Amino acid sequence: MPNKSIPNRGWHFLQIPGPSNTPERVLRAMGQPTLDHRGPEFGVLSKRILGGLKKIFQTDDHVIVYPSSGTGAWEAALVNLFSPGDKVLAYETGYFAVLWKTLAEKIGLEVEWIESDWRQGVNAQAIEDRLKKDSHKKIKGIMIVHNETSSGITSNVKAVRDAIDHVHHPALLLVDVVSSLGTTPFYQKDWGVDVAICASQKGLMMPPGLGFNSLNEKAREQAKQINKHQSYWQWEKIIEMNDTGYFPYTPASGLFYGLDESLNMIFEEGLDSLTERHRRLASACRVACEAWGLENQCLNPKEYSDSTTALIIPQGHNADDLRATILKEYNMSLGSGLGKLKSKVFRIGHLGDFNELMLMATLSGVEMGMELAKIPFQKGGVQAAIKYITDHNR
Ligand SMILES: *Cc1c(COP(=O)(O)O)cnc(C)c1O
Repeated sequence: MPNKSIPNRGWHFLQIPGPSNTPERVLRAMGQPTLDHRGPEFGVLSKRILGGLKKIFQTDDHVIVYPSSGTGAWEAALVNLFSPGDKVLAYETGYFAVLWKTLAEKIGLEVEWIESDWRQGVNAQAIEDRLKKDSHKKIKGIMIVHNETSSGITSNVKAVRDAIDHVHHPALLLVDVVSSLGTTPFYQKDWGVDVAICASQKGLMMPPGLGFNSLNEKAREQAKQINKHQSYWQWEKIIEMNDTGYFPYTPASGLFYGLDESLNMIFEEGLDSLTERHRRLASACRVACEAWGLENQCLNPKEYSDSTTALIIPQGHNADDLRATILKEYNMSLGSGLGKLKSKVFRIGHLGDFNELMLMATLSGVEMGMELAKIPFQKGGVQAAIKYITDHNR
């Protein structure tokens, strides 16, 4: 009898849609002694990082780095811009959109919610129609999630900007780019995004621990009107101190070493090649899923996410059982269904430090796991992905 309690050897495959795999180079960079965060070396490091981040967000304005998760960065954006009682408009694309909306309500904002079924992206026309009716311009902000990680859906941010401009509405556009930055094309300045919210653990290939707000001058001015009190999240104080490379409180300086290296890696590859790689690997993944006959949670092929694929488990089967089988037998973690998708959906993360053979191993693990878990599917997904990859070589 084989001993089932023997630990797995070889790599653990972390194919959840974030935290993503941290490359060796980044891990090594973080294994350095702690820096004096008021010393000369740190100022140089943080100025280089802040400059690099601007290039990734594609903005000339201000990027704020917090020691926080993405949730903290969500809250930061809202408390800097709005006061309790202010009205914002938010759009339901999935679990993360719901969490952000709930947070906004908890801090006292009045959230108008455009409901949807978690199977399609933001409908810009619906936003335009709502704004058109807001003749007194009560709506102060619009909150959308660029890549909805729970449902594998990427929304058209530019279309939302155009919709706002079309009706000449002054509301600020706030976009969650937590799982799109560093995976999917995003142009903050060109798309007129007033505040982009991000975190370190997805496309930026870092461990969790850093949250980001990237804001333009319009957002900064609005925050100056609102935020009369000092707080941990307050942008203005941080922007002023960042000019010299320092922070008002202790930054997560150990993570800065890692972020510096992950930015190096991103610029070595180039943002265009990076998004093209994500597109190619995600497309190969989807070819496999189609061959298996599994249904994609995202209904519109134009909105398929290049960082995550969310798949619906066939009726009468449980996605969490499948994930447990794959973890136990093949030492691979896949993403669970979140919120109302629990047990109904499993998610394949294909973002960050990821390549062809990692994709093929991931798909093999899924195909073998489905066989073991007796999920009804058509064989040949892995073969179909091989063909896609070799037909679409770089
Ligand atoms: C991961 C993620 C977040 C951030 O969540 P934290 O757990 O607080 O870091 C926010 N939005 C989206 C779309 C995400 O994928």
